[in-house]
Amino acid sequence: MVCDTLPEPKVADAKAKKLVMDVLNKGVMNRVEFYMSGVKFGCTPDSLKQVKLRIQFDDIRVYEREGVAAWWMNLFGTIDLPSDAAYYRDKDIMVIRAKGNDIYHQAIIVHECVHAMLDMFGAKGKPLTVTTASSESMAYIAQCVYARACYEELGFMDKACPFEVKKDPNLQQVFDKAWEISAKILGGTKRVDAADEAKMVGLVPVTKLYKHKPVNVDFNGIALRPASCS
Ligand SMILES: [Zn+2]
Repeated sequence: MVCDTLPEPKVADAKAKKLVMDVLNKGVMNRVEFYMSGVKFGCTPDSLKQVKLRIQFDDIRVYEREGVAAWWMNLFGTIDLPSDAAYYRDKDIMVIRAKGNDIYHQAIIVHECVHAMLDMFGAKGKPLTVTTASSESMAYIAQCVYARACYEELGFMDKACPFEVKKDPNLQQVFDKAWEISAKILGGTKRVDAADEAKMVGLVPVTKLYKHKPVNVDFNGIALRPASCS
């Protein structure tokens, strides 16, 4: 069978894959559940379990950011590696930094898993179209819910937001708002308040990271990996 993903390494990065699987296997993932009006599907433990299965079977390939530059150029025609982590919906690839397996970095992994989850709801020819602002808002909120839930398990009930962005005050505001929303979600209010959602969705497009990004994202589904390529 011919694989159309030749420039990519034949074997998924086992270490990076394990890091992501370990996060998705944590009991605390059962607390990552909330709903937003700007996204048709909720962020739910069941959906995130599906993401785990798709990673397990390498339908979504996970790589460490370090060491991927050579094939990256072939695959994307440009060296545009993410500073921290990213999910590439066209290729069903997640790139992470495996530098630390702490709550901070695990939460970034959860962020990317939310993008993968949205991709799972789309299909080739029938994409799930979400605004970049809503997709990122959902991902940042999930990132904060995960981190806050982990801290709570350790007994830190009112920890400050651990995500600091000195170079972009707007992105810091995104994190601060998401952190505030995460307390409400873990407190039992699983539907994000309309005013909170409007604030987040308004903030994302003015950040340095997202101001040049397209308004909408088309999530086009996650292809099944041909057996001979796995
Ligand atoms: Zn994101």
